[in-house]
Amino acid sequence: MVNVDLSGRTRLDACPGALQVHAAADGGLARVRVPGGRLTAAQLRELARAAAGHGTGVIELTSRANVQVRGLRTGTGTGGVPEDGERLPEPDARIPSGFAARMARAGLLPSPTHERVRNILASPLTGCDGAGTVDVGPLVSELDRLLCARPALAALSGRFLFALDDGRGDVAGLGADAGILPVGADGTGLVVAGADSGLRVPLDAAVPALLAVAEAFLAELAELADSADREVTAWRIKELPDGPARVTARVRAALSARVREPVRLRPAVAGPLGVLPGRDGRVALGVGAPLGRLTSAQAELLADLAGSASPDGARSGGEVRLTPWRGVVLPGLAGHEAGAAITRLADAGLVTGPGSPWAGVSACTGRPGCAKSLADVQADAALAVAATAGSGSGHGGGTLPVHWAGCERRCGRPRGRVVEAVATGDGYRVELGGQSLACADIEQTAAAVAAARGEK
Ligand code: SF4
Repeated sequence: MVNVDLSGRTRLDACPGALQVHAAADGGLARVRVPGGRLTAAQLRELARAAAGHGTGVIELTSRANVQVRGLRTGTGTGGVPEDGERLPEPDARIPSGFAARMARAGLLPSPTHERVRNILASPLTGCDGAGTVDVGPLVSELDRLLCARPALAALSGRFLFALDDGRGDVAGLGADAGILPVGADGTGLVVAGADSGLRVPLDAAVPALLAVAEAFLAELAELADSADREVTAWRIKELPDGPARVTARVRAALSARVREPVRLRPAVAGPLGVLPGRDGRVALGVGAPLGRLTSAQAELLADLAGSASPDGARSGGEVRLTPWRGVVLPGLAGHEAGAAITRLADAGLVTGPGSPWAGVSACTGRPGCAKSLADVQADAALAVAATAGSGSGHGGGTLPVHWAGCERRCGRPRGRVVEAVATGDGYRVELGGQSLACADIEQTAAAVAAARGEK
């Protein structure tokens, strides 16, 4: 049978998981899905130790609030294999079995068949403050449970994305295939392929509606394949011809949903940073990870602080929430603990306020992890940050985000207005809004980036 590939990428979905490890230039790359970005302190601590024991020791935060670990030695590592006979996924020759086993044991791999489709964003501060109209935390758990319980939905690609916005509008505009946004008296708006579909459902029907969008996408794919008598590959709704309209029509018919004028969604371009007011005298801390990378020591510190925030102060309690802006939220700290916690986090090299020279700086993998890269963009970004911080220009020379990329693919570029430093092989090209400047060395590049971020 002929395959029609609408994804524009390779035919097979090679998106990595904890079990399907990608062979990167610097070793095995495993991605662990974290629905809603929610980890217990104990899970984050185990991730830190597994990353150090089996990989490079760095936990990379992704734009879907998932985590990935690089440099995994493939084969039959045994570290962390359960000793109590607990049943784990079947081993695979490519799998760093010790790492996958530890993730399973930590409760981070509840469904081997669905592990790569559990891409669920949620408003990171939901339930912590008064800004949202709904606490979507319980809906994340319900969606994850029902998603994993439907065998057919294991056919979704590892890129299909759900988003549950609590009404503050922070994640609804991040391009999810299926999302919700509470819209007041009209109920809950249904996002399809990154835009408000106009469909409205009651809040208690929100999770079934999200699943209906996913099922409608698979049904459209199957119908297209039948009509063309060909296998059809598409990873996301927008890759299908008229995908958003077709899926919306199918969902509307299935749910008898009401229809209203769609609202315009705007992506939030930066995550929460610093001390954030919460409920009942408690606060949340918004923390950034330089270039979205947490060292094991930084992750253990976050786990310790989250543990101290649990109601009983137990080391295994507490919660950490990863954000789609490659940061972390620590909810539920006592107000009087915030100052000391911020000091410890800043001393550990984490970003605790918008004045940090690292705020708004992102980079793709670059060398040595990506064979396509023309430069070690993370090292170069760090040099540019150091140069800008040393110049005394305060917040890194401007407030616009900057993204460093090792080639024209620009992986990981944030949405919205962004300064881009793209490696050319002879230096970098700094771009903003259709204008560009070729820079031969890192000093020139750093100066051009700082100027563009300040829009001078
Ligand atoms: S932008 Fe290019 S160099 Fe960077 S990770 Fe993507 S493919 Fe690799």
